[in-house]
Amino acid sequence: MSPMPVPQELPGVQDAFGRPLRSLRLSVTDRCNLRCKYCMPEDEYAWLPRETLLTFEEMNSLTGLFTELGVDKVRLTGGEPLLRKDLGTLIRLLLQNSRIQDLALTTNGILLAEQAQILYEAGLHRITVSLDTLQPERFRALTKRDMHRQVLEGIEAVGRSGFKTLKLDTVAIRGFNEDELADLIEYGKRVRAEVRFIEYMDVGGATEWSMDKVLSRAAILETLGRRYGAIEPVIEESSAPAQRFLLPDGTTFGIIPSTTTPFCASCDRSRLTADGMWYLCLYAKDGIDLRHVLRNGTSPQEIKGLIRSVWQGRKDRGAEERKALERIGVREERLIEIDRLRRDPHLEMHARGG
Ligand code: SAM
Ligand code: SF4
Ligand code: SF4
Repeated sequence: MSPMPVPQELPGVQDAFGRPLRSLRLSVTDRCNLRCKYCMPEDEYAWLPRETLLTFEEMNSLTGLFTELGVDKVRLTGGEPLLRKDLGTLIRLLLQNSRIQDLALTTNGILLAEQAQILYEAGLHRITVSLDTLQPERFRALTKRDMHRQVLEGIEAVGRSGFKTLKLDTVAIRGFNEDELADLIEYGKRVRAEVRFIEYMDVGGATEWSMDKVLSRAAILETLGRRYGAIEPVIEESSAPAQRFLLPDGTTFGIIPSTTTPFCASCDRSRLTADGMWYLCLYAKDGIDLRHVLRNGTSPQEIKGLIRSVWQGRKDRGAEERKALERIGVREERLIEIDRLRRDPHLEMHARGG
């Protein structure tokens, strides 16, 4: 008699639309040293209480459970992730887990000059720096801080520290930086970085958002086409939201058309805030409190079961729903009322990670 097959636990879990759980954005702090108009336009916010912030060990434990359910890409973000002390320690802890194939970081670059080497030595795989303008005055108007020089120094430090690739993310905003698209690509060539243009999104903190400020993928391609000539799409298999393009001189760049062409249908990402709230979508108004279950002694198996069953019920497709509102003409309405935003930091992009 042949032996009974041992029931195997399936490695991955899929949501209600068949989307796998693969990519986790781990926000390590909700605080930030800039005040970008499209993300944190106010001066002061209700911050997450310090005692609620997950320790590195807690972040690592939860991330470990996520990886057992299929996550293999982790991105450290915030707020500004480099404000969290000793990030190298978290990176080393996470990289003991061989299921993590890709460990990346998104930063505004202010503290990179002093930390790039430490991050590289800790084993971080990739860095993305947000850079919306090459003009110091514009940077100050956008971020309320006079720190453009530090960002550029941070970018140069990445080049010196051993990282093989670098991405520069630019939120493309009509009436702000539409005349700098080619300059940013030229700057990217000089620092050996691939530039990605992100369409401006009307997420929680984007209280100044309006559709006429969105520089669409089509408008970006048209502008760059006028300057460089024929632009070809790069044909590749990828689950990344960025669509990549090739200029006649061989330079590549990306566009993330989150507003005009949402990629919800293939979205495999979720977000864990610095205090352990798990959000299934950038637009989700409620999250699942994983800090509570972690701290009240619930077993890892049970927490894993919770994550599995919540993901299996996931039906979120926030950006597509926002786009549908546009069709019926009510998209101009603010995503979340400002009073509610002021009371609950979890609703902000800077809390749940971009
Ligand atoms: N502070 C870090 C930074 O700026 O890179 C990491 C967190 S930030 C929330 C992550 C990314 O979200 C940044 O590239 C930022 O430009 C982007 N972002 C924030 N608000 C946005 C919005 N309303 N539309 C599009 N992208 C946005
Ligand atoms: Fe700007 Fe990032 Fe800070 Fe938001 S979190 S204000 S995008 S630097
Ligand atoms: Fe994913 Fe939500 Fe963004 Fe759609 S809106 S791509 S479901 S995070």
